[in-house]
Order: sequence, then C-alpha cells, then structure tokens
Amino acid sequence: MRRSIATVSLSGMLRDKLQAIAAARFDGVEIFENDLLQFSGKPQDVKAMAADLGLAIDMFQPFRDFDGSTPAQVARSLDRVERKFDLMDALGTDLLLVCSSVQPDALGDTDRLAEQFAQLAEAAGRRGKRIAYEALAWGSQVKLFSQVWDVVRKVNHPALGMCLDSFHTLSLRDDPAPIRQIPGDRIFYVQLADAPWVNTDVLTHSRHYRCFPGQGEFDVTGMMRAILDAGYTGTISLEIFNDEFRSAPARANAVDAMRSLLWLEEQVGLSRAAAAPSAAPAPQVSLFSPPPAPKLAGWSFIEFSVDTAAAARLAELLLSLGFSRIGRHRSKDVELYGLGDVRIVLNRETESFSRHYFERHGTSACATALTTANPQAAIVRAEALGCTRVTGQIGQGELDIPAVQAPDGSLLYFCPPANADGHHAFEADFVMDADAVAALAAHAPTATARVDHLVQAVPAGQIEPWVLFQRAVLGLTPQRSVVLHDPFGVLRSREIESSDKAIRTSLIVSERDNTAISRSVARLGGGGVQQVAIEVQDLIASMKALRAQGAPVLPVPDNYFDDLDAKYALDPAFLQGLREAGVFYERDAQGGEYLHAYAAPFDDRFEFEFIERRGGYDLYGSTNSPFRLAALAEWRAAQQAG
Ligand code: MG
Repeated sequence: MRRSIATVSLSGMLRDKLQAIAAARFDGVEIFENDLLQFSGKPQDVKAMAADLGLAIDMFQPFRDFDGSTPAQVARSLDRVERKFDLMDALGTDLLLVCSSVQPDALGDTDRLAEQFAQLAEAAGRRGKRIAYEALAWGSQVKLFSQVWDVVRKVNHPALGMCLDSFHTLSLRDDPAPIRQIPGDRIFYVQLADAPWVNTDVLTHSRHYRCFPGQGEFDVTGMMRAILDAGYTGTISLEIFNDEFRSAPARANAVDAMRSLLWLEEQVGLSRAAAAPSAAPAPQVSLFSPPPAPKLAGWSFIEFSVDTAAAARLAELLLSLGFSRIGRHRSKDVELYGLGDVRIVLNRETESFSRHYFERHGTSACATALTTANPQAAIVRAEALGCTRVTGQIGQGELDIPAVQAPDGSLLYFCPPANADGHHAFEADFVMDADAVAALAAHAPTATARVDHLVQAVPAGQIEPWVLFQRAVLGLTPQRSVVLHDPFGVLRSREIESSDKAIRTSLIVSERDNTAISRSVARLGGGGVQQVAIEVQDLIASMKALRAQGAPVLPVPDNYFDDLDAKYALDPAFLQGLREAGVFYERDAQGGEYLHAYAAPFDDRFEFEFIERRGGYDLYGSTNSPFRLAALAEWRAAQQAG
C-alpha cells in the first residue's frame, strides 16, 4: 500500500519533519496548514523540499466549517476555498481535506449539504482539485461516515469523495462494517489512528490520546479490513495528535509510525486469512507480509554492562542470591553467572558496545537475549519492521548471535534454545565450569529457576514505543494497564505477554519525580531493565535459606503480615513461613496464589525479585506494590542514615 503521514503527527519544524518522514520511507505526506504557516519559505519551497526527499504531497488539510446556513456564508466559504486551491497549486497537491462543521449553525440536512457540496465539487473540479469530506466525531451535525457518504452519494461528482478516519469512527463506537458497501473509488483518503479507551469527551480523547495503530485499544485492523473490502486502493495515512508525540524526537517517532502501518497491514492480512476465504474478495492492494512473529521460549540471558568495580559488587550480589559463576568468555572480559536456567552475563570488556552503554547508562542491562527456535527469521522480521540490526566484534570460531536495537538503545539478541542437556548455544563462547553447571541442577529449590518476567522502567512518553516494538516485532500482546502507588507518587504499568506466557514484561512509567521508578530511570540514564523476576519452586524455603546466609533481602514490615491474615485467613503455619521468609502474598479470584520477595536493589538501579506462582496465578502481585515500594523507601532511608 502507499503509506503517508500528516505533518501534525511529528514534533519540530516542517523541514525536520519532512526529513524524518522521508528517512522512515513514507511515500507521501499530508501538509497540515499550521506547519505551512509556521514555515518561513514559500509553499513552492515546501513542494521542492518534499520532491527532493522523494515525498509526494498527498493532501493539504484541514479546511474547516465549509457549510453555512445563509447564501452569504456559503459564498464566503467558496471564496476562501479558492485561495486554498491557489496554495495547493503552489504545493503541488490536488486533494483538500474538508471536515464537517463544528459551528452551532452547521447544517445537518443531507439535501442542503448536498447542494452546497455540489458547488464546492464544481469549484474544485474547475481547478483540477478534489475534496475529501471527513466527519469529525465532534462535528455539530455530521459526526458519522454514513452521513458523509449520504452527501457524497447524492452530489455524485467526480471531485467529491470521502476521507475516512479510524479515530472518528471507532471513538464513537460506530460500526465500520457498512463501509464495505461503499464503492472504493468514492473513498479518496484514509487516515488511521488508534487510542486507549479513556473516560473523557471525544474532542479531548482525539487531541491528547491518539496514538499509532497497535499502541492503543481500538480495532483499527477491523476497520481497515472493511475499507479494503470496499475496494479501496489508495493511501493509508497516520494522523496523530498526541502531547507526548509532539515532544518526542521526530526521527524515532517516524520510524514508529512506519512500523505501526506495516504491523497493521500484516494484521489485516492475517485476519483476512483467518476468516472464511469466501467472506470477501481478495484485496486489490499488496499488504506488507514479513516472516511471522517468532515463537519465544523465554530469556537465554541478560547482560549487564559493568566496569571493574561494579563487576565485583554485582558479582557479590549475585553470589549472595545463590547464583554461581559458571563460565568465562573465551576472548573477552565477560563472565557468566547461573541460577537454575537463569543466565546473567557481566560484561566489562573495554572497546565494546557494552562499554559504550556503560558510559551512557552506568551499571545496567545493556542486552537481553530471547530464546527462539529460528533466530534468523526473528531478525529478518525485526529488520523488516524498521529495527536496526547490530553486529558485534566476534572472535575466531565464536558465534554470531544476531541482535537488534531495542527502543532504549539496548541490544535484543535472539538465541536458539538450550539442547537436551540444558546447554545453551551461546555458552559455546565461554569456558564453562562443568562442576558449577552440574551443581546448578542439583540445588533443589532453584534447579528449575527461570526468568518469569522483566520490568522495564521507562521515561514519560516511552510506553507507547515499547508497546509497539514488543507487539509488532516480538508478537507480544498488551494486557492490563495498572496504576501503582509509590509513597512518593503514582506509577503506571502496562503488562505485555506472549500468548503462552513464556515471555511476560511490564513497562512502568512514573508520573512524578522521586518515586522508585523515576530514580531508576534517572540512574539508568533514561530507563532500562529495573527488575528481573526469577521463578523458583519453593520460595519460602529459598528465601529462608538466603536470609540465613545473610543475603541482602528487602525486609517486609510485620504489620503487612497481620493485615494479610485479616484479608485471607491463612493457615497459621503458612503465614508464619511467609513472615519468617519475608515473602509477599497475593491471591486471585480463582484461588491462584503469588508469592514474591525482593533482593535489596543494586544502587537504586535494578533489583532481583524471586517469585512462585501457584494454582494458575497469572498476574504480577500488584496489590502488594504499595507495601513493597514503601519497604523499599524504608530500606533506602536506612541506607542513607547508616
Ligand atoms: Mg482526520
């Protein structure tokens, strides 16, 4: 399909926007009038600039409040539009977006609207221009695409067609299915936007919550299917008003924008294939179709960038938490630690990606490695969806583990699964300590330890790019948004998982400074892995053992356990076990149980959580967040005092 984007969707000045749009390989652009008014050159300069960048100017927008209740008003509108046609001549575009009127005296009567739009179509036709008429969800009278279609059908002029915008249709919960009955060539333009469902008026919803397809909760795929079923073969474009997007860097945002359209095309293709083949004619356009999303089996390793001092302290923490040092890299200053099936890499190699990462972010997870049977296909998909492939320095005989850059600049590797003996392919690059590896499997409570989930601390405005990355590139599915309470402010989390739950992640953003998350974001130089949650078999026994060995675990206040007893009426011996082990507890409505405990955080940057899921418990223990975050605040205060 042809792909376009409205200039209003990106931050910055018009020249920067066009460069970002071209770099992200869009075919065209909608010029938003305000961007033109703020531009210091002539409209002809914009035309030349777009042409130099290989971008077509697909549409000029918007023309507001065309219709009128008096002949004088209509005459004024027709005069006004002639001047826009002059401008469009200079820009080199033939399509003008006319949106439904928001004036109190706007017309709602189809016959009268048709009379006036017939005059507009005549005027446009004389000038070699076309009009794309769009229903604004907050239009005074015309709010629905069906009303616009009534007018367009009645006027029946080649210069008048429809502009469909998924936001306007879906935000009103209007059914897009009847679009299938509209002849595709009467749809002149399609704008796409997603949004979360929020409880607010539709204008506020549009101005502040629009996001790229895949980042929100609307069924943009379903609407796009209806549009293609109608026989539409034109451009799909993004029109996103969003406070965060207006402050986000234009280049990265344009890449996200393209990723969202490519993902949407794939989803439309998949949903058509899943439906009965006879349900609709085949699309007359070719849809983007990358290799399928990888089937992910878990994390192969998590790699931390460290310097010598940090390596010693982080190694000490890992050893105190029951990890063993199980390998040393054959050619690099890199060590491998293991606990059950969990692998942590400490990389202090100078002249490496890790060192560059360390210089910007300090001690932090510079790479995560996902396990998948076909790493190469996963990389091809990621690249097709606009990710940058990264290759490192590889020693002789060492593996070339493919990687792409994640939204925060860290690396995401794809690794094949461990073999039947439990040896990971990447371990071939390490001189392994066979005895230490054998001991991992012999230690009962942690023999099957695995990474259950990662928590990613993200700066404001970065949840949406992460959601799109994980959804499009990795095929994960967004789950709940949860509000969490830190003693110093509110946090928002978004959970994203693979369908079989082998991969679970939680993205957390802080809306206030001085929360645990905002500190992590700052300390990690813009966010990163904030928590590695490790699943073990018998958490109470594991934590008791760690505490007995003097491991730095987060103390849980006694009052918490008194309240737990009141809430769940637990078996006294079990409750005593939780208390002695310092383990948080949550039970879901189906009786599933979540036990979780925390190591003291490393430099206020990240922490290790130990968890046990019982009886099909499927969440993240968020009811305990206020207590955990308060315990963390207490612990910090004690550290500072001591
Ligand atoms: Mg629109």
